[in-house]
Amino acid sequence: MSGNLLSVIFPIYNEEEVLPHLYERTRNVLAALDLDYEIIFINDASRDRSLEILQGFNRSDPKVKILSFSRNFGHQMAITAGLQFSRGDAVIILDGDLQDPPEIIPRFLEKWREGYQVVYAVRATRKDPLLMRILYKTYYRLLKAISKTEIPLDSGDCCLVDRKVANLINAIPERNRFIRGLRSWVGFRQTGIRYDRDKRFAGKPKYTFFKLLHLAMDGIISFSEIPLKISILIGFFVSISSLLYSVYLIANTIFNFQHRIPGWASIVVGITLLGGVQLTVMGFLGEYIIRIFDEVKGRPPYILNGCIGFDDHHAENIRRYSGL
Ligand code: UDP
Ligand code: MG
Repeated sequence: MSGNLLSVIFPIYNEEEVLPHLYERTRNVLAALDLDYEIIFINDASRDRSLEILQGFNRSDPKVKILSFSRNFGHQMAITAGLQFSRGDAVIILDGDLQDPPEIIPRFLEKWREGYQVVYAVRATRKDPLLMRILYKTYYRLLKAISKTEIPLDSGDCCLVDRKVANLINAIPERNRFIRGLRSWVGFRQTGIRYDRDKRFAGKPKYTFFKLLHLAMDGIISFSEIPLKISILIGFFVSISSLLYSVYLIANTIFNFQHRIPGWASIVVGITLLGGVQLTVMGFLGEYIIRIFDEVKGRPPYILNGCIGFDDHHAENIRRYSGL
């Protein structure tokens, strides 16, 4: 299949220790393939020497291209930018910390050549701490249970998408982007390949607990209406129960079949329970409203502070996202 172009994109945030190994291993894998390629690194405003190191790669290898953000916009936005600036007939997304081994690339291509438009990597094993593994497992199962879109279990952003799918994802204007969800939502022929997710090669995880929590909420809120619907169910259930209880109380007042006690406990329980339910429901409403507000503002998803190695083909994108 020579004549085809493959794009590989890496979101990078403070990965100076990993970069030389990442580039070396990726280049070795790609050089052995019978197709042309580009490697796009998205520097998510790293504070370490990542950008300098990337510029070094670009100087000796024109296949290396760099997008640099004006500030930290987060992993999902970095992938978004990479997809928008990629030109490949197939695009592969890998993490920049070598948790997704570049050696998986030929396996992706094999499936793509069989005619799949999306090939996603499924984590057969992962080497995170036990508590995180339990949380990840539970989350993906919960998401699958309540989401309208069939999002495969234990699949992250590591994947190959065909040009057509990349174009379609690029055309989605949504700002709260849960890429693995959008990728499933697009449809076409999709398949998974199992792989062992490695430990991060070096450095600390760049996702803080709160960033992870936000991503998890994006997944649920962008792809499920259940939290909103469940509020109605809870509300309905609580209302019916309290109605029945009041009938009982009135009957008891009339017929006095049970000795009436002051009832302080039941009042307190009722108030706190209802308060809790109401706050939870309002909280969920809030999460949706935050995202609606975000979408309505229509700000661009990211701002570029430089791009290296891209040709005129991207002039319009560059103008749009960098103000130049
Ligand atoms: N990353 C990013 N911006 C961020 C956080 C992370 O571009 O604000 C990149 C990071 O450099 C890595 C990938 O996203 O290449 C995944 O991040 P990390 O390894 O910290 O996440 P985890 O594997 O723990 O989920
Ligand atoms: Mg990682």
